[in-house]
Amino acid sequence: MPEKDLKEVVFMPDDVIRIDPDGFRKKEMSLNEYIEHFIQYPSVAFDAYQRLYAALRMFGTEEPSKPWKPKRWKFLDDRIESPWKRGGAVGPFEIYLYGIEEPVNEIMKYLEEASMNIDAKARFFILIGPPSSAKTDLINLMSYTLDGFGTLLEGELYTVKFNLEDCSDLFYGLKEVVCPAHDNPLNFVPKDKVRELLKKVNERVHPDYKWREIKFTYSRCPSCQYIIQKLKDHGISWEDKISVVNLLPQVDVAMEEFRPTAEKAYDPQRIFGGSVNMNRFAKILSKDHPLVIDFGIGGGIDRPSPQHHIVHFSEMYKAHELGLLDEILDLISSRNLKVLGKYDVKIDSVIFGTTNLEEYGKVSSLPRLGEYLKSRSYKIPMGYLLVIDDLAQALKKRIFEKMSVNRNIHVPPHYVERFLATLGVLSALDVPESEMKITLVQKALIYNDEVPYGLERELEEIREELRRAARTKPMEELTEGIKYGIPFRFYQDLVAKLMLALEKIPEKAKAEILDSNYRGCLSMVNIKNFYDEVIRTYDGINSETRRRLVDMRAPTERNEPVQVALDESYELYVQSVIRDVNRAILGEEKILNLAVKYLAQVYESELGRKEYKDPSGRVVPIDYKFLEDVEKAAGVVNRSEFRKHFAAHVKYRLHDFKTEKYPMRELARSLLNEDNLFRRAIENYAMENVLPSMIEDVSLAYSPANEAVMQELYKLGYCKTCASLALQLAALRRKDKK
Ligand SMILES: [Zn+2]
Ligand SMILES: [Zn+2]
Repeated sequence: MPEKDLKEVVFMPDDVIRIDPDGFRKKEMSLNEYIEHFIQYPSVAFDAYQRLYAALRMFGTEEPSKPWKPKRWKFLDDRIESPWKRGGAVGPFEIYLYGIEEPVNEIMKYLEEASMNIDAKARFFILIGPPSSAKTDLINLMSYTLDGFGTLLEGELYTVKFNLEDCSDLFYGLKEVVCPAHDNPLNFVPKDKVRELLKKVNERVHPDYKWREIKFTYSRCPSCQYIIQKLKDHGISWEDKISVVNLLPQVDVAMEEFRPTAEKAYDPQRIFGGSVNMNRFAKILSKDHPLVIDFGIGGGIDRPSPQHHIVHFSEMYKAHELGLLDEILDLISSRNLKVLGKYDVKIDSVIFGTTNLEEYGKVSSLPRLGEYLKSRSYKIPMGYLLVIDDLAQALKKRIFEKMSVNRNIHVPPHYVERFLATLGVLSALDVPESEMKITLVQKALIYNDEVPYGLERELEEIREELRRAARTKPMEELTEGIKYGIPFRFYQDLVAKLMLALEKIPEKAKAEILDSNYRGCLSMVNIKNFYDEVIRTYDGINSETRRRLVDMRAPTERNEPVQVALDESYELYVQSVIRDVNRAILGEEKILNLAVKYLAQVYESELGRKEYKDPSGRVVPIDYKFLEDVEKAAGVVNRSEFRKHFAAHVKYRLHDFKTEKYPMRELARSLLNEDNLFRRAIENYAMENVLPSMIEDVSLAYSPANEAVMQELYKLGYCKTCASLALQLAALRRKDKK
């Protein structure tokens, strides 16, 4: 019994691959040596689907950021260092894609299916979404990851080379010819032997990893066929002339991208083959000789080919206007090119198309072509991000962390997480139906796995309705994350504008509150004025989105949000800042004491008792008014449920802390850290009932008297600048309240 040992091809958790072309080596070996190598590393004979699937799997997955989401594949962190990335990027972790777990899991599912099932290969992936919604980023990231895989022993690619030195007169003086279609060397081994080899290798594949099995193929490209026939005709053994050579990433194998623009034109000869290689033509003087023509889908005799790699048709459905979409579909469904009407070339590439919803809708509704497209594609909708935390992660990793490191500008707490990310999500969400009785902001918070303050109905019920509403629309009518929204490019363009705005602030005004550790702090730029202006003037935001974000004109549709998103997200930001100030004034100790007081009382009260022991050991009557005020401050619908829930925590978890001196205190500390709802209840209570007596001395923005509060704010990530502004803001709001 052979051991079923073949599972993952490579597994490199938390690692990066550094592609260094200086380390590339050309290798050459005999067919027999290749067979030995293949037995040791069967993955060198993977087809394009298996290669891509293995490459994307190699960094593994991590737990989802939200409980209802699928796991997140870690290649999305951009774990490749490579000299040929787009936009000047080189290092790993430049792209970081968040919030697209679902589309990526769909792609992974189909890749696995196509690795096992020939019929599933005759399709392409169509990524549908608005501009700047990470479609191209995702395809590029997959391509880099596949390049990285190609530099590992397990991911190397090989093809055949004919050594024609001693019979070059038969081949117009050519001394060697490498297979231009990058045929698998196994296609040149006797069939019986290949079957035996595959049996031996596939028996070792673990039953859960069937996608790893190597399939029998036997195609040889027209160039190889021609050479073999010619050698046979002259009584020369072709097997003796063959050696196996490796193919190098980017040099020999690379992603091919077609665009409907001039430089990467949808050029039929590049796609379908038939262009003439001038070097070869100079020797052979025939334009349709199998050694002279390029065989298409981007590849050529002396340029890198996307065979065993990715082909990306950008704005794919525009090919319809060029009259090419039909032919491209034929190519995809047959996986075969008929070059110049006579040469058959097998295609082994994973094909991705990208398009926007408008174009998709237009072409899909065409009577015959629309059906053909649907039957040949895997639809992958990709909209703007709808989860605040996902957008915040992407913004921090890709823009704001760099801004603070490279330009030494302080980014205040909550600026990205609460203000900018919320603004983005509010711009892209569908307005909830009025029967749902939730506001747009509440919907955004629910999508973010938060419990919004002041819901009128049970959270789970609303969640289920939201999920249902998201599923009911057919693709063509999708609007959420697609019709409205801020494109990612907007945020990328912000950096220069923010820097400019900072420069405009008079030095004198800055000097008073400038933190000596930074050149400036984003809190100096007035959020509302600045964003109002940039949103009004930014070209890439459509007018519906703009109206939703900033415009104050009367709403035209019944369902439109009453408040503009800029105000709402600014308000969330301000609330978070004020909460920090209050927390700094109160101190964690007071919060903790209140938490202990609440827990001790709910536990006894649920047991039906009227008294409890306070921390000093005295028996005192339960303060029911206190319990109710805390529960009211939690802002939940079902307050008795809230009380039961925390009484149960005491009942079941208190003994976990029995070795501590004050077990209840430790339990309270844990609950405050792990349960946002609990913290919110206690803090809100404290702010309403304890804070007012404390704030008399914190009315000035920045004075030595406030030093203790400032120190607390520094601990929360504030710099001197944003801390002083936070104190001002909190004081101002308190004054307004009075
Ligand atoms: Zn060939
Ligand atoms: Zn700051």
